[in-house]
Amino acid sequence: MKKLSIVVPCYNEEETVVPFYEEVSKLNTYFEEKELEVELLYVDDGSRDGTVAEVKRLHERDTRIHLVSFSRNFGKEAAIFACLQKSTGDYVVVMDVDLQDPPALLPEMFSYIDQGYDSVATRRVSRKGEPVIRSFFARRFYRLMKKISKTEIVDGARDYRLMTRQVVDAVLAMKEYNRFTKGIFGWVGYETKWLEYENIERTKGETKWSFWSLLLYSLDGIMAFSTMPLSLSAIVGLLFCILSILLLLFVFVRALVFGDPVAGWPSLVCIISLISGVQLFCLGIVGQYMAKMYMEVKQRPLYLVKEEF
Ligand code: UDP
Ligand code: MG
Repeated sequence: MKKLSIVVPCYNEEETVVPFYEEVSKLNTYFEEKELEVELLYVDDGSRDGTVAEVKRLHERDTRIHLVSFSRNFGKEAAIFACLQKSTGDYVVVMDVDLQDPPALLPEMFSYIDQGYDSVATRRVSRKGEPVIRSFFARRFYRLMKKISKTEIVDGARDYRLMTRQVVDAVLAMKEYNRFTKGIFGWVGYETKWLEYENIERTKGETKWSFWSLLLYSLDGIMAFSTMPLSLSAIVGLLFCILSILLLLFVFVRALVFGDPVAGWPSLVCIISLISGVQLFCLGIVGQYMAKMYMEVKQRPLYLVKEEF
């Protein structure tokens, strides 16, 4: 008998823990027919509400339910990593607990695994119900990533994904501290089938992402999967060198032809402030990568467990 691990990261999700369980339970007959043993693992990412209590209550009803609870909020990336690390199934499916990733899609996903795919991923084709500015920047982000990164990062890709153990182990083998799951899945490769669906809005609870946190997350993604900003700062530096040589020649020739009248103080100030601005900006880019390296070198654990069953 094969085993399927359904793993869900949860952060302040007391309202959705039970509806999610009920939705998954609707598939019980399917699991039986397919002779799949199921474990349902909730990873509580340091919730401050009744999430843990809800999961414990469910565990009393159904022993297939398990919990890993963090000592504090470590972020969704850490939660997904824990989901994969603690899962024991031959197949693992990661999904959001808020039912934006419909569990009813599982039979279709499995049909592709049966056809020989290693992983079945999902992407939403619309961003219905999302703030316009957010969609706009999200689109920009994916377009930019396509240009500056060798790793494929699919627009609208969700974290909802069914994988074989082989793929899970490959993802777990990537030990980096600064994790950007969407990129990691692209990086490991394997035969992936993409399923598409319309965006489904959250019914209960609210999104944990603000515009600002998404913006910072996108910068993490860029730095984790591209070194283009570094090359870009080198190129800008080179361009400024060329420009300054040309200016030098110009000033030199002009002084020879017209003599050297004292002038040009304002332009000098402008040039100096422009160049020091560019320098600090480039230094900042280098600094960002260094900060990431600093965190990698420390090798802190990605999460700490407070309780698990
Ligand atoms: N989540 C988490 N840790 C966090 C933020 C979110 O585990 O710090 C979980 C959350 O409980 C949910 C999933 O990640 O199951 C997706 O979060 P959300 O629905 O807020 O994101 P959105 O769907 O709006 O992108
Ligand atoms: Mg959601």
